[in-house]
Amino acid sequence: MTASYQVRGPVAVITLNNPPVNGLGLATRQAVAAAIEQAEADAAVQALVITGAGAAFSGGADIKEFGSPKALAEPNLLSLVLLVEACAKPVVAAIHTVCMGGGLELALACHYRIAAAGTKVALPEVKLGLLPGAGGTQRLPRALGVEPALNMIVSGEPVLSELLAQVPGQQLFHRMAKGDLLEEALAFAAEVAQQRPLPRVRDLKAQLTDPQVDPQAYFQFARNMVGAQSRNFPAPLRCLEAVAASVTMKFDDGIRAEREGFAALMMTPESKALRHAFFAERAASKIADVPSDTPLRKIERVAVIGAGTMGGGISMNFLNAGIPVIILETQQDALDRGLATIRKNYEAQVKKGKLKEDKFQQRMGLLSSTLNYADIAQADLVIEAVFEEMGVKEAVFKQLDAVMKPGAILASNTSTLDINTIAQFTQRPQDVLGLHFFSPANVMKLLEVVRGAATAKDVLATVMALAKKIRKTAVVSGVCDGFIGNRMIEQYFRQAGFLLDEGCSPSQVDRALEKFGFAMGPFRMSDLAGNDISWAIRKRRYQEQPGLRYSASADRLCELGRFGQKTQAGWYDYIEGKREALPSAVVADMLAQHRSALGISARSISDDEIVQRLVFALVNEGARLLEEGIAQRASDVDMVYLTGYGFPLWRGGPMCYADTVGLFNVLQAMKRFAKNPLDDAKFWEPAPLLARLVAEGGSFTG
Ligand code: NAD
Repeated sequence: MTASYQVRGPVAVITLNNPPVNGLGLATRQAVAAAIEQAEADAAVQALVITGAGAAFSGGADIKEFGSPKALAEPNLLSLVLLVEACAKPVVAAIHTVCMGGGLELALACHYRIAAAGTKVALPEVKLGLLPGAGGTQRLPRALGVEPALNMIVSGEPVLSELLAQVPGQQLFHRMAKGDLLEEALAFAAEVAQQRPLPRVRDLKAQLTDPQVDPQAYFQFARNMVGAQSRNFPAPLRCLEAVAASVTMKFDDGIRAEREGFAALMMTPESKALRHAFFAERAASKIADVPSDTPLRKIERVAVIGAGTMGGGISMNFLNAGIPVIILETQQDALDRGLATIRKNYEAQVKKGKLKEDKFQQRMGLLSSTLNYADIAQADLVIEAVFEEMGVKEAVFKQLDAVMKPGAILASNTSTLDINTIAQFTQRPQDVLGLHFFSPANVMKLLEVVRGAATAKDVLATVMALAKKIRKTAVVSGVCDGFIGNRMIEQYFRQAGFLLDEGCSPSQVDRALEKFGFAMGPFRMSDLAGNDISWAIRKRRYQEQPGLRYSASADRLCELGRFGQKTQAGWYDYIEGKREALPSAVVADMLAQHRSALGISARSISDDEIVQRLVFALVNEGARLLEEGIAQRASDVDMVYLTGYGFPLWRGGPMCYADTVGLFNVLQAMKRFAKNPLDDAKFWEPAPLLARLVAEGGSFTG
């Protein structure tokens, strides 16, 4: 049963029961509708209470039904809300723990509401590029007041019930429960059983806090603010217009305006992208052949090898989650430097007020260090973050194999080296895998979990669960050079290089990509990461694949010692202590000489071409990764790019974006690029999966 019905004295209690959060799926809606009818028909019932079983009143729409015909099937949420509101007997909502989206809209249709303290109350639809579509934009401003309702609807953020109860004049919560919510709701229902007419939120007037303020002027001000903050997302402004309708229109007209806004937003690519990202994140945590009930290994102590840039950041993730960390280095001075950096990072957070002093002390108290492998032997998980050289990794993993307790998980943070080779340095390859964090490792959401040929399923299940604990988005990758993210970015950088050869400046390329929505264009990104790092990788990679074409301009840059921000000179000039990238005359000269050495005369290239060449380079390589089984699903590729590479969220990731453009159009563009003699025809050979999808009229993300 997705909702239960029980009569207690004169009151019928309808309890939503659809774990985990009492989502209002079709079966639940049907059960509630039937229960209301039953209560109305029963002469002994004088009032109703609606509440939720378990850890929620209701979290809103059932995400399992999202986008399916079931979501709209009658009674849909809007019909259910009307049914509750029209009930001839008083209906009391008994709200606790979580009351969000459709759950709040249902509660707003009840005649009375009693809430437990600590309830998270929200209308989060805006986060999926939508607006609340079952009367939320019309009823919340009437019940709570226009300004607080607008804040909640435009931000989608939860607010605690006890704070909402303090809003002057609010009619959202008639009472706050002092003890047992259900008992108090029953008493409340009995008390109001004979009250007529029944109070309905729709009959209230939506008002501004200060009646002197002209609503027109207020909404114009709000429009400017919201518009400026949500440039690439249409939903917040649509939410605002719907709330404005609650003031300027009659209730039923406002509901119609809300419906129109909802339907229009549902069709926008931005909402599609946000919904795609929402489901992609959930899908990424699942591994096809690893059952969800796989027993997990306990991770109570973590060791990190190497206290450099990555080792420090990685350690902080675990400290933040309350898991003790021991860091191992070979040299005391390197260890001291690493520990000092961690301390400095935390101190900066304390200074900015982002971390409380006691929390800081607590975290530092969980951190210890050593120069001796024997001290880390009892750790449940060890993550290696030493120099990127196979010889160094070999020495470390042989040591780990010798000392670590049986069952410990041995992970490498390598960016490019073969996890299967690393696993073979041990007698326990089943316990070895890659945990590829991104820099800065304490900030970036992405964690690529690199599955070796021998990695055990319970090891994978354990790290996927651990990733959630340390608030990372984990995406599984098979073993290949660069894994998912860096293998794709390599192609993106190759195209960026060809664009320089043909006549672009680094800033033109960066500007085009940043206008498209990337957090940072490729050349600013290279300067930040260090051009010397990619130089070293290129030397190895292009030695291994001598026929591979690339622009040597990046090599010329490194030969000038321009390694990026760390040398205050890279693709751009930098002023010491500042991050601002200034166009460089030296680089412009270098590029001009480089072109003339190649006999190329620069041409003017449009921003559209720049964006297409770089983004479709990602798409084509993403398709190859899918075909090879390195990535499990297209949405995983998108998650990697959304959480690790600053791909614009409102475009949903490269594969989702390609679907939006249309795979036929992507392929046509690639054929055009292949004809450019200064580009690389081989580069643009379509991945077989892409060609097949175009032939079948298919798409990556379905
Ligand atoms: P780093 O040079 O900042 O740090 C490496 C640390 O390892 C140094 O402190 C060094 O003293 C220590 N070390 C070296 N050999 C050791 C040994 N045998 N035993 C113990 N400690 C030893 O390097 P980093 O940038 O932190 O990179 C570390 C690893 O992380 C590399 O495999 C790299 O490819 C990978 N990685 C780096 C980044 C990045 O952006 N920097 C991103 C992802 C992955």
